[in-house]
Amino acid sequence: MTRAPAPQPGILEIDLYQGGASKVEGVDDIVKLSSNENPHGPPQSAQDAARAAAERMHLYPPTDHAALRAAIAAVHDLDPDRIVCGVGSDEIIHLLCQAYAGPGDEVLHTEHGFAMYAISARAAGATPVKVPERDRRVAVDTLLDGMTEATRLVFIANPANPTGTMIGGQDMVRLADGLPDGCLLVLDGAYADYVADFDGGLGLAQGRENVIVTRTFSKMYGLGGMRVGWGYVPRDVAGVLNRIRGPFNLSNVALAAAEAAIRDRAFADRCRADNAAQRARLRAGLAELGIPSDPSEANFVLARFADQNEAADCDAFLRTRGVIVRHPSGYGFPDCLRITVGDAAGVDRLLETVAAWRAR
Ligand SMILES: *Cc1c(COP(=O)(O)O)cnc(C)c1O
Repeated sequence: MTRAPAPQPGILEIDLYQGGASKVEGVDDIVKLSSNENPHGPPQSAQDAARAAAERMHLYPPTDHAALRAAIAAVHDLDPDRIVCGVGSDEIIHLLCQAYAGPGDEVLHTEHGFAMYAISARAAGATPVKVPERDRRVAVDTLLDGMTEATRLVFIANPANPTGTMIGGQDMVRLADGLPDGCLLVLDGAYADYVADFDGGLGLAQGRENVIVTRTFSKMYGLGGMRVGWGYVPRDVAGVLNRIRGPFNLSNVALAAAEAAIRDRAFADRCRADNAAQRARLRAGLAELGIPSDPSEANFVLARFADQNEAADCDAFLRTRGVIVRHPSGYGFPDCLRITVGDAAGVDRLLETVAAWRAR
């Protein structure tokens, strides 16, 4: 008798990642505010570049991502040799866990932290360790207290998802200063593009051997479906990640779209400004309906309801009207809804529908 193959330890303990819903049965006119996508769509510049690159889809893409890394380096004033590009920043998170954490090692994240940190830790056989936040904000003290000799990686998103809150530059330095030997701090900057005059920790990473920043094209750059992200890592780490990533992990089309998108500074500036304006309208409108939220630095708002039932009830009502938001129960917020900031029409529709729910 043969034995069925068993996966590596830890893999079957992974809770499957839940993506934001995008459909409601029987409703055609949908506004999707569940995955923090750009309501303005992809930049025209990226669409044109992707179309042109489609003519090269019979050719293997470059393995070194040189053109995209040069564009990123130019925009953010970085060393291109320290940039590693991945299939979304999810792949960078995954590669970091695979390379630096294994059985017996700990991967630290916070209470309401992004699901991929624990998923990637478990996939590598490591143990994810969760520490408390304070008032829906990453707490540097609890992270420092949670660090042990077994800690290999510390992940925080700044701004954080699903809270939208962030920690300041001094707190990032305090975290970096407190790292045990052989441990890497990963500052996930998926939403850093939305914060004016904020580098997401790239400056800190520039001068440290143990600080990494990850960034993505999925949010403000409007390329979630293209799957492109990158990490700014120490030189040695780049050498490690480039050894284990797929040599052809990014397609010609994805590379071309991302390069055009990051060079399109007018698009970025427009999206950042519009997001800030619509986010303010969204928060104020919700507050008028008796639904508070913390000031958000990202492209979503975490709306707090009286209790779990009220949040679930509002979520269900919105859905019947074709408005899809996220009920982040899995992130420890059963009494909240995370609502992506839409364009002006999307925010209007969300607020009108929540008002109708209140009035019913
Ligand atoms: C959306 C998001 C990402 C981006 O993931 P990609 O794989 O780049 O699409 C990373 N971290 C957080 C916290 C996010 O919310």
